[in-house]
Amino acid sequence: MFIEIEDLKPEPLHVHHVFQAGEIEFSREDAVLNEPVTADFLLDHKNGDLHITGTVETVVHFKCSRCTKEYSKAVSAGFDLSYLPQPEWSDQNVEVELKYEDMEVAFYDGVAFDVNLMVLEQIELAIPMKLVCREDCKGLCYQCGADLNEGKCSCTGETVDPRLSVLLDFKKKSDK
Ligand SMILES: [Zn+2]
Ligand SMILES: [Zn+2]
Repeated sequence: MFIEIEDLKPEPLHVHHVFQAGEIEFSREDAVLNEPVTADFLLDHKNGDLHITGTVETVVHFKCSRCTKEYSKAVSAGFDLSYLPQPEWSDQNVEVELKYEDMEVAFYDGVAFDVNLMVLEQIELAIPMKLVCREDCKGLCYQCGADLNEGKCSCTGETVDPRLSVLLDFKKKSDK
């Protein structure tokens, strides 16, 4: 979805759009987006400078970093962004860059604004750092690989350091 800047009316544009599954997608080892995405935002503009505020909502499929089980979770983001036409490189534009140095500003080509790209970036930013199927996920047994959320495996509690077990054997023998 592109918004042609020359087609914009002077007043702010309200966009409510549902992207179908597959229209916006990404795939990484621990997260896959292949669900519909709802975007709702207000686009204000002046001389090609865009100011966009709104929300995106979707569901992302994750892989738990502890137990490796796949799970789905709603992801939503609220944003307030400014986009400026990409400046040509000249002395004049160095001033433009300095002017916006402290603002969160991105650039676009000044002709058509790529909504899909913005939505994708917002979803990626909204993905949590820690991916766990639930806060208290117990993960997998590091010895046998059993999912400890489904109960204890036979090796739980028998995790004796091999070096220590030699000492225990020695102690047992000497106790006799
Ligand atoms: Zn888990
Ligand atoms: Zn085990």
